[in-house]
Amino acid sequence: MSMAAKRDYYEILDVNPNATDTEIKKAYRRLALKYHPDKNPDNREAEDRFKELSEAYEVLSDPQKRATYDQFGHTLNAEGFGGFRSEGFGGFGDIFGDIFSDFFGGATASRTRRPQRGGDLRYTLEIDFEQAMTGLETRIEIPRMEVCGECRGQRSEGGRPPDPCPTCHGSGQVRYQQGFFSISRTCSQCGGEGVIITRPCRKCRGTGQVRVTRETTVKIPAGVETGTRLRLSGEGEAGINNGPRGDLYVVIRVRDHAFFARDGHDLLCEIPISFAQAALGAEIDVPTLSGKERIEIVPGTQSGTVHVMKGKGFPDLHGRGVGDQRITIQVETPTHLNARQRELLEEFARISGEDVHPISRSFLEKVKSLFD
Ligand SMILES: [Zn+2]
Ligand SMILES: [Zn+2]
Repeated sequence: MSMAAKRDYYEILDVNPNATDTEIKKAYRRLALKYHPDKNPDNREAEDRFKELSEAYEVLSDPQKRATYDQFGHTLNAEGFGGFRSEGFGGFGDIFGDIFSDFFGGATASRTRRPQRGGDLRYTLEIDFEQAMTGLETRIEIPRMEVCGECRGQRSEGGRPPDPCPTCHGSGQVRYQQGFFSISRTCSQCGGEGVIITRPCRKCRGTGQVRVTRETTVKIPAGVETGTRLRLSGEGEAGINNGPRGDLYVVIRVRDHAFFARDGHDLLCEIPISFAQAALGAEIDVPTLSGKERIEIVPGTQSGTVHVMKGKGFPDLHGRGVGDQRITIQVETPTHLNARQRELLEEFARISGEDVHPISRSFLEKVKSLFD
């Protein structure tokens, strides 16, 4: 199966993108029966088609994976969901067993010795709010499967190539006659691999791979946010039988900030000012992610007014501009007045013709007057 040009999953299953789950399942059954390896022995093209079908079905039959595929296409779809998870061999057999149990009596797909791409890995990287603004380069440690150095992936002691299976003579299939039909079954001695390991490599216990912790450097561009995924091509699990490595997906999680918040490319914050500053105007210092800046509060500023500082937000990941810093002004009501302050405010109120003291009585009187 070619990895470079992946076909559209809907095209593979020959359904339109609005197909229902039932339509998808039907299409898969029809095509999978046609290209099933038991029906097409020694036909590599059919085998490729069959694998392609299974992959497409695995994604399109899962509502969550289908939604992700519809949104992002192949690139992100290759990734596992949740935690550190490898998607090497896994799903294929399950689906196969599920959908074909009624056709083939629960037969399982034969494993071949053909090269297979390694699984993709997902790594969640937590970074600081500020780092999302500036970007960073950091080292991460990833546990992943590597080709066993002892046997060079051959699985046998000393790296000897495995022996051909004496039962199926290397084909992985045993054929027998039943009525008019020639039926082939997965060879039970080698499990369909066509080879057997007589003396397994001790280091990898005959699997050809060992788990190691690999340190790698990732460059996080400025402007990332929680949920941003970076693909490190070829940094996933080792391939099987010299297949290519899978990819590593670094998923970003940005820690919250005590003072700032974020809305898309914009940096948000709230700044309290006093009643007098709001009324008379003022120049105040506000924090940005790159130090203090002075802004002007115009006389008569209302609570909730938003002051915009152009270009002080987050850069766009793809270089399309920079966001702003949006400052919401909160006018604070003074709470602890000394005698002089109280006197001046009372005078201010008197001149403005406002009832101020005692506020509770005047309020009660107003409410009472509503009912007279
Ligand atoms: Zn080994
Ligand atoms: Zn065999």
